[in-house]
Amino acid sequence: MSLRTPAYAAHSATSQLEPWSFDRREPGPNDVHIDILYCGVCHSDIHFVRNEWNMSRYPMVPGHEIVGKVVRTGSAVTKFRPGDSVGVGCFVDSCRSCAACQAGEEQYCTKGLLFTYGGEDKDGSITYGGYSTQIVVDENYVLRVPDSLPLDAAAPLLCAGITTYSPLRHFGAKPGTKVGVVGLGGLGHMAVKFARAMGCEVTVLSHSPSKGVDAQRLGAHYFIATDEPSVFDSHAGSFDLILNTVSAEHDLNPYLGLLGWDGRMVLLGLPNPTPVAAFPLVFRRRSLSGSLIGGIRETQEMLDFCGAHGIVSDIETIPMSAINEAYERMMKSDVRYRFVIDSQPQELTLRAQSGSRNRWTSIR
Ligand code: NAP
Ligand code: ZN
Ligand code: ZN
Repeated sequence: MSLRTPAYAAHSATSQLEPWSFDRREPGPNDVHIDILYCGVCHSDIHFVRNEWNMSRYPMVPGHEIVGKVVRTGSAVTKFRPGDSVGVGCFVDSCRSCAACQAGEEQYCTKGLLFTYGGEDKDGSITYGGYSTQIVVDENYVLRVPDSLPLDAAAPLLCAGITTYSPLRHFGAKPGTKVGVVGLGGLGHMAVKFARAMGCEVTVLSHSPSKGVDAQRLGAHYFIATDEPSVFDSHAGSFDLILNTVSAEHDLNPYLGLLGWDGRMVLLGLPNPTPVAAFPLVFRRRSLSGSLIGGIRETQEMLDFCGAHGIVSDIETIPMSAINEAYERMMKSDVRYRFVIDSQPQELTLRAQSGSRNRWTSIR
C-alpha cells in the first residue's frame, strides 16, 4: 500500500507551481509517518524550482522547513510516538559512515546526502518535500520540536534557523563579538535573533532602508543601509564576523573591507559567484568561508536553544495555493520575514478531491 499525497509541484524551470499528487512509501520499521502542518518557504526553493543551480529534477515538490505531528511509527522506532511535534529539515538520509556522518555533520556527507526534495533515494525514487500533506522519514533524520514553540513559527527553524545558528557557534560567536548580518530576509532575521541571544553586538546591513525599524525590533543594535556607498568607508574594519545571507548576485569585496584584522565573512547565500580580490583578505588576514545548514545533532541543539530562549521566526502564513505570489514577493525582498504554508485549507480541499482518508482533524 502507498500513501497518496496531495502537493504543489513545479513541472519545469519556467512554469508556476500547481496542484499535483504522488505516492509516499508505507512506513518501514525505522520510519516515522508525519502529517505536515506547516512548511516554511526558503529562497533555496526558488533557486531549485528555477534550476538556478543546474541540478533540478521535475516534477519537483519543494519544501524543507517541515513541521507536523507523528501519525504512526514503524516497529523499530524508539524516539517518537504518535502525537509528537516533529520537524524535518533539508535532508532525510546520508551514508552514515563517512567522516562527516560519523562526526554528526551529515550535511557534509561525501557519499550519500539525500536532500528532502529533488534527491535520488537508494531505491532510485526521487524525494518530494514539504509543499505536501504528509511525509515518511527515517527516525534518525527527524527532529523534536519543543512543546513551548508555536509550530507555524517554528517551521523556518528547520533551515533558516540552523543555517544561521551553526556558523555562529562554529566560528565562536560570544558576548561582545561584533557580528554583521548582510540581508534581512528569512536567514538574516534568524541570524539577528541568534546573535543577539548569544550576547553579540549585532548590526544589520541591508539594501532596503525601510527595514531599519524591524532590524532593531528583531534585536539588532545598529542598522546600515548599504544603498549608500560611503558606508563601506565609514564602517571599514568594524566587524569580527559577517554572515552574508544575500540571495542575489552582488560584489563581495566591499563587505570584506568591513572586516577587522582576522575577521571572517561566512557565505550562506547561494547566488552565482562573484570574483573575490586578494588584497582585502591578505592584508588583514581576513577569511572568507561558507557554511551549509547543520547536522542533526546541532539542529536538535538549535531547536532546544529556541525552546529555552523563546526564539521563533517572524512569519506570514499562506495557503499552499498562494505559493507563486509568495515567490514573486521574495524576489522583491518583500517578506517579513518568512512565508509559511499552512497545509490545512489546501489539504482538506485536495484530500476531498483525491478521496484519500482525512486523519487531519483528529490530530490538530
Ligand atoms: P530571502 O528571505 O529571500 O532573503 C534574502 C535577502 O537578501 C533579502 O531579504 C534582501 O535583504 C537580500 N537581497 C536580495 N536581493 C538583493 C540584492 N539584489 N542586493 C542585495 N541584497 C539583496 O532568502 P533566504 O531564504 O534568507 O535565503 C538567502 C540565501 O541563502 C539564498 O541564496 C538561499 O538559497 C541561501 N540558503 C543557504 C543555505 C545554506 O545552507 N548555506 C540554507 C538556506 C538558504 P535586504 O532587503 O535586507 O537587503
Ligand atoms: Zn532552505
Ligand atoms: Zn556520509
